[in-house]
Amino acid sequence: MSRYMSERFANLEAYVPGEQPQDMRYVKLNTNESPFPPSPAVLAALNRAEAEHLNLYPDPEGKILREKLAALYGVKTENIFLANGSDELLNFIFMTFCDQNRPVAYPAISYGFYPVYASLYGLPYTEVPLREGFRLEPGDYCGIHKTIVIANPNAPTGRTISVAEIEKILQSNPDNVVAVDEAYIDFGGESCVGLVPEYENLLVCQTFSKFRSMAGGRLGYAIGSKALIEDLDKIKYSTNSYNINRLTLAAAAAAIDSNDYYVENSKIIQENRAYTVAELEKLGFETLPSKANFIFTHCPKVPGGKIYQRLKAKGVLVRHWDKPEIAGYCRVTIGSREQMDVFLEKVREILREEGE
Ligand code: PMP
Repeated sequence: MSRYMSERFANLEAYVPGEQPQDMRYVKLNTNESPFPPSPAVLAALNRAEAEHLNLYPDPEGKILREKLAALYGVKTENIFLANGSDELLNFIFMTFCDQNRPVAYPAISYGFYPVYASLYGLPYTEVPLREGFRLEPGDYCGIHKTIVIANPNAPTGRTISVAEIEKILQSNPDNVVAVDEAYIDFGGESCVGLVPEYENLLVCQTFSKFRSMAGGRLGYAIGSKALIEDLDKIKYSTNSYNINRLTLAAAAAAIDSNDYYVENSKIIQENRAYTVAELEKLGFETLPSKANFIFTHCPKVPGGKIYQRLKAKGVLVRHWDKPEIAGYCRVTIGSREQMDVFLEKVREILREEGE
């Protein structure tokens, strides 16, 4: 930190994103991207004519895209907010709905950006412990009078809670926002978006980065009551009114039009997930039940950090954290069948080399 930086950031520890090697040398199973390219319609939308309009600002309201998303989810355009990735959306949520009198609560093991935003804004925060087997107990969030942020499926565990359980949390915290981060909802989970018309305090957060193969386009969105969306808009227009670029707006609109393509891809990911879990089980791994495009898996005989290092040396990137409660685990993105076969082959090699 230079002597010029504000003192208020002295204790801030920035988020560390997963490795993004640019040389394509790795089988990349570390940041939950889709192995599939964007749909042909998306590629067509990113055409020269669109690029020729880059001299013009994008629509700050993203109206066409918001209309399409509203139609897809059966809500109104006024219920949709667009952000530059759901990371930016989460940033806006922490900025808009939390302060000294509105502390934030999130699971103690969850997406690593939540504590960073809490620290960025100097918020009082509660990290709610998970229960046995990394299970999130909805009762732990009932009536806690805090802004609540929950990832469902949770990251990095992949475990889910039901819509009925989310409804209980919403009902018991009517004076606080409950943000449900559904970044991974489209791989077999049950979205709570149907609750939006009933609960003014609900914000459902989703992203184009996973299911819609657009991590590089940076687009996240919230679905929520008009009141909450207006609050988010107030902060967006006080930060960066043109937060979504023209190419991403065009690509995303085309992605919504090709929803079936992504649904098919998701089916393949879910099949590959079941296959990978079954193969790992044969090798003695224990894997948490996952409804996400990743699994959280643990080899009782080889430490998680070692598996991660050895896989990396063999050209396969997965994710590992040193946090003691989860240090035994690796998070493995579910990619194509070919990628999963390479991963499994390298795991078998490592076990042989370890004499297991
Ligand atoms: N929420 C969760 C739970 C995530 O794992 C991620 C991906 N790292 C995000 C949000 C952010 O995704 P993006 O900014 O690409 O939309």
